[in-house]
Amino acid sequence: MRAHPNAVSPQAVSDEGNFAAEGVHRSDATAVNKANTRTLYKNREPVYPKLVHGTFRRAKWAFMILALAVYYILPWIRWPRGGNAPDQAVLADFANARFYFFWLEIWPQEVYYITGLLILSALGLFFVTALFGRVWCGYACPQTVWTDLYILVERAIEGDRNARIRLAKEPWSVSKLTKKLSKHIVWILIAAATGGAFIFYWHDAPSTFFGLFDGTAPLSAYLFLGILTFTTYLLAGHAREQVCIYMCPWPRIQAAMTDAHSLAVTYRYDRGEPRGPHKKGQDWSNRGDCIDCNQCVAACPMGIDIRDGAQLECINCALCIDACNEVMDKVNRPRGLIAYDTDLNITNRLAKKPSTYPFVRPRTVLYASVISIVGAVMLFSLLNRVDVQLNVIHDRQPPFVMLSDGSVRNGYTLKIVNRAGMVRNFAIEFDSPVPLSLKLVGAEKDADGLLQAEVEPDGVRELRIYAVAAKGDVKTNSFPVKIRVRDTQTGVIADSAQVFLARK
Ligand code: SF4
Ligand code: SF4
Repeated sequence: MRAHPNAVSPQAVSDEGNFAAEGVHRSDATAVNKANTRTLYKNREPVYPKLVHGTFRRAKWAFMILALAVYYILPWIRWPRGGNAPDQAVLADFANARFYFFWLEIWPQEVYYITGLLILSALGLFFVTALFGRVWCGYACPQTVWTDLYILVERAIEGDRNARIRLAKEPWSVSKLTKKLSKHIVWILIAAATGGAFIFYWHDAPSTFFGLFDGTAPLSAYLFLGILTFTTYLLAGHAREQVCIYMCPWPRIQAAMTDAHSLAVTYRYDRGEPRGPHKKGQDWSNRGDCIDCNQCVAACPMGIDIRDGAQLECINCALCIDACNEVMDKVNRPRGLIAYDTDLNITNRLAKKPSTYPFVRPRTVLYASVISIVGAVMLFSLLNRVDVQLNVIHDRQPPFVMLSDGSVRNGYTLKIVNRAGMVRNFAIEFDSPVPLSLKLVGAEKDADGLLQAEVEPDGVRELRIYAVAAKGDVKTNSFPVKIRVRDTQTGVIADSAQVFLARK
C-alpha cells in the first residue's frame, strides 16, 4: 500500500533525531531547520476529474439520483395516522418522544428497534464490503454522492477537466468571475436545500418550510440549517477527496472486513505491462495493453493512479474502469484492463491458475448468518408487538396502610400506554388470592362494578389505585397480585405482576 500522504517521512524524523547524536549545536540545528523547512501537512493539489461514459458512470448517476430523491422527498410524504398524531411518513418527533416510519411508531421504551436497525445496517455494510470491497465509499456514502453532484455543477458551469484547468490558470476576468460566482451560488443553494431537508426529518415539513421564511420556525431549525448548509458546502465543494483521505475512519476500518477474495477496482498488470504509448497499426506482441494514456488518472475523483496498486485513497468508484474501457474500445483491445478483481487472481493467472471468485467464505457466511439471526429476531418482535403497555409502581412510603377497622390498604400507580391512533377504554382488573376491594382515584366504577379508564390516542394515562383487603382475609405478610388492563373493545391485554404487602 502506498504511503499515507500525511505521513512524516522517515528522513524528516531521522534528521531531527540525529542532531543530538551528531553533536549539532541547538542554534545550528535551528538554522538547519530553517533552511530545510518542512511542513507537517501537504498542500492540497486540486483534482479536476474528467467526465467518463460507461456502465459504472451510469450506475453512479442512477444511484445519485435515487439517493438524492429519497433524501429530499421523504419528509414531504404524508401518512395520515388519525387523532393528533403527525401525518408525516418519516419523522423523528423529539418534542413528543416518538419516531415515525410509515406504519411504524417507535416509543422511547422501544429504542431497541433503532439499535437493532443500526446493528443490521452495520452488518450489511460489513457483508457487502467483504464481497465487493468499498462499494459503500464508491456509490452510497453521502460524501461521494454530494461531491459527485457538486462536480456535476462545476462541470456544467466551468466545463470538463481541461477547461477547468485552463480556467484555474487564467488571470481574473469578468468571465472567470461570473463562472466562479455562479458555481458557488449553485453550490450554496444545494447546501441550503440539503440542510433544509435534514431539519424536515425532525419537524413537520410543510409548516417548518413556511416557518423558516416568516421567522416562526424553532431556533434549532435555523441552527441546524446553518450548520448543515456550511458543512455541505465545505465538505462537498472544497474538501472533497480530503474528507475520504484524512477525516473518515472507514478506509482504515474496512481493511478488517476484507480478505484476499474481496473484489476491488484493480489494474490487471498481468495484462497491462509492460506499458507504453502505442501507434495505430503497431504490433501488440511483447507489450502490455496499457498505452499509458493516463485517462484513468484524469477520470479519478481522488486524483490517484490505480496502476500504483491498492491505495487507501481509492474509493472504488470504478470511474477509471469506464475511462480505460473507452480507451480499450478505441485501440481495439478487450475491455477490462481495469476491473473488479483481486490481486490473488492476478497472481493465480501469472502462475497459469484459473481465477476464482468464492462468494461463499467463512467471513461472508458468518456475516450472512448474524444478519439473518438479528433480522429474524427483529421481525419476530415487530410482528408480536402489542399496542398497549402497562407499567405499575407499588407505593413505597408507606408500603401499606393499616386502616382503623383492621383492613390493609396498598396503593399502586398505573401508567397505561395506548399506542393506537384512537381513544380506547380499558377495564382494570386484579387477580388476587385474597378478595380485594378496589378504588380508582378520580374515577368511579362502571354499572357492572368494573374499574374503567379511557386513554387518548397515542397517549399515556397515569392512574392511582387503592386495593383494600379485609382484616380477616390477610393471613400472610404478603401475597402476589396480577394487575391487568383489558381493551373493552378488542380484548387486548397488558399485565404486570405485583405484590400486596400486609402485616399478619
Ligand atoms: S486508461 Fe487504461 S490504457 Fe490508459 S493509462 Fe489507464 S490503464 Fe493504461
Ligand atoms: S482509482 Fe479508480 S476506483 Fe479508485 S477512486 Fe480513482 S477512479 Fe475511483
